[in-house]
Amino acid sequence: MLTLANVSKHYAKHDEKGAAPRNVLRGVNLEVGAGECVAIMGESGAGKSTLLNLAAGLDRPDAGQIVFDGHDLNTLDDDAATLQRREKMGFVFQAFHVLPNLSAAQNVALPLLLNGMRAKDVPPRVSVVLHAVGLGGREHALPRELSGGELQRVAIARALVHRPRLVLADEPTGNLDHDTAMRVLALLRELAQQNGAGVLLATHSAAVAAGADRVLRLTPEGLESYAPGAGGA
Ligand code: ADP
Ligand code: MG
Repeated sequence: MLTLANVSKHYAKHDEKGAAPRNVLRGVNLEVGAGECVAIMGESGAGKSTLLNLAAGLDRPDAGQIVFDGHDLNTLDDDAATLQRREKMGFVFQAFHVLPNLSAAQNVALPLLLNGMRAKDVPPRVSVVLHAVGLGGREHALPRELSGGELQRVAIARALVHRPRLVLADEPTGNLDHDTAMRVLALLRELAQQNGAGVLLATHSAAVAAGADRVLRLTPEGLESYAPGAGGA
């Protein structure tokens, strides 16, 4: 459903005169199947966010191919890439931009409205998904009235409400305590699996990654499979 083949990416250096360009990603190969949860581990700066941005079609690789749901993202223009993202992808971020002046329900409704769902069909779908993340009855709560774990559950509801094919999660539990992080992650996996959505999860935490079907480690040498206990944090 998502395939990265031999993907490379570097950023031009502005600050280091004469420094050789550093490849953030070098020859990365990755496949995420429907309903599969793949975790990318790596130190800060390893290129995890870069990889997710490429998978989202928000940025383009220097080399290699990225195929999502049968479309080569390189061949799509920006509008077509935006449409793919809006209809078929969901996003969860560490500092998720749950909009502060919108209620939980209004935040979750956004992807449906952006995708043109009829207004009368929106509240029932939002309600089902908020119940699924344990926030039934909190439809009208404002973000400032919710805990960190609850906010992240709003973010998960918002990422899944339009039934995307792929969820891209960048450090989705980064600001949560361990137990809350584990519960939020389990919920994300469960909902994604119910929807047959793939999950590509970036994290620096081995504990968080351990919940995935497959764990890969991003290093300067590339993307390697990661066996828990084989070193690393
Ligand atoms: P991670 O998410 O694993 O922490 P990133 O993908 O954010 O890593 O960053 C990888 C490397 O690329 C870092 O060295 C970072 O400074 C650099 N980088 C990321 N985005 C940009 C950018 N837009 N311009 C220049 N350098 C960038
Ligand atoms: Mg990052």
